Amino acid sequence: MQKMDCFRACRLSNRMAMGGTAGAVIGCGLGSLALVSRALWGVLAVGGFGVLLAGLAIGYRFTVCPHCGAPLYDFPRMPSEIPAYCPSCGKKIDPPADH
Ligand SMILES: [Zn+2]
Repeated sequence: MQKMDCFRACRLSNRMAMGGTAGAVIGCGLGSLALVSRALWGVLAVGGFGVLLAGLAIGYRFTVCPHCGAPLYDFPRMPSEIPAYCPSCGKKIDPPADH
C-alpha cells in the first residue's frame, strides 16, 4: 500500500463521502418507495452510510500537515482541496510528484 499523504487522503475521503452519501440517499429513497425488495435497498443504505463514515475517518486521520501534523480541515467539514500553505505552521504543502 502506498503511503497515505494528505492529498491522497483528501481525495479518497471526498470520493468515499460522496459515493457513500449517494448510496445511502438512493437506498433510503428507493427503499421508502418499496418498488423493489426493501431488504436490498436497506443493504445499499447501510452500506452507503458505512462508506461515508469510513471516508470521513480516513479524512480526519490522514488529512494533516506533513510538516507539523496539524489538521488541514475545518472540523467537521472536509476541504475539497488541500490548502497551499499549512494554516498552523505556515509551511508550503507540496503535492506528491505523482499527483
Ligand atoms: Zn504545518
